[in-house]
Amino acid sequence: MWPLKQEIMNNPNYQEIENCVIVGSGPAGYTAAIYASRAALNPLMISGPQPGGQLMITNDVENYPGFPDGILGPELMELFKKQAERFGTRILNETVTEVDFSETLHRLKTDQNQWITTKTVIISTGASAKWLGLESEQRLNGRGVSACAVCDGFFFRGQEVAIVGGGDTACEEAHYLSKLCTTVHMLVRSNKFRASKIMEARVRNTSNIKIHMNTETREIIGQDAVEGVKIFNKTSGQENIIPISGFFVAIGHKPNTEFLKPWLKMDESGYILTKPDSTATDLPGVFVAGDAQDKVYRQAVTAAGTGCMAALEAERYLAGLNH
Ligand code: NDP
Repeated sequence: MWPLKQEIMNNPNYQEIENCVIVGSGPAGYTAAIYASRAALNPLMISGPQPGGQLMITNDVENYPGFPDGILGPELMELFKKQAERFGTRILNETVTEVDFSETLHRLKTDQNQWITTKTVIISTGASAKWLGLESEQRLNGRGVSACAVCDGFFFRGQEVAIVGGGDTACEEAHYLSKLCTTVHMLVRSNKFRASKIMEARVRNTSNIKIHMNTETREIIGQDAVEGVKIFNKTSGQENIIPISGFFVAIGHKPNTEFLKPWLKMDESGYILTKPDSTATDLPGVFVAGDAQDKVYRQAVTAAGTGCMAALEAERYLAGLNH
């Protein structure tokens, strides 16, 4: 007999064992919930500290298919939630703080000190953009300050913008913005790019990207909207203000996977590693979807796609238990 099946049958509390627990409530988590509940897995979602995920702090979403006139991020997440609940997803507004994946049945502890036992887990805890930590950046977030050029660049077409960062993301986003905006000021804090040579060459060869090396961002100027950025050039020792209407932060993301570290294989930045063409981790019954495993695309629609994959794989895994 499959060890998990035996373990479930031997467990005196077997009625309390969940089929499928989804950790996190962004597009990946809700899509997994919609598929898992329609497959009669009766999933339990544990929403996490920011129910709805990163889209809850975004204004207009214009690139999610099916909404030709765009939709507000929080409204989109409300629709995801309604759709998941319509098919019976149960939502627990708690945060998973600890897991125990040492047995074939998986255990998760919430911030309310509840331990939940489950046959499958779908991790969809997402990632958080790193921010500079300036007061003005926080105040103007969503009012011209953004951490996603692909999401928000369109609102600044024909205007002058700045982007901070010197990695592949900053280069890719600066190049994306250069097609929409008159000038893109790229603010790189050191004297070298962290990006790959090919990405660096691409921004260097784009005429409307102006690169400012050795440059720190001191302040984003503006009361209710971005009007400029105060920069400090470490080579010349000079402070300057560049007039801009959009300020993009592209200094990296941090996957929300810290609490899973002892259990799952991750890359050096904390992104969970999955098997090829799959959302399965090395641990049977543990799947991961969305930005917690994706450092390349990081779009709501790609997260939703992997959420669907994870639910289908969890369903297949559970079906295997019954044979
Ligand atoms: P990275 O960590 O690679 O780069 C971050 C950049 O931001 C660096 O230039 C860093 O400067 C700068 N930075 C960090 N903190 C600050 C700060 N407080 N103020 C100013 N600048 C700061 O992050 P990315 O998001 O660019 O990339 C993450 C990973 O994803 C990489 O492995 C990358 O290759 C990959 N990726 C791949 C893509 C592709 O293949 N198409 C596209 C996008 C990402 P410093 O160098 O001085 O530390």
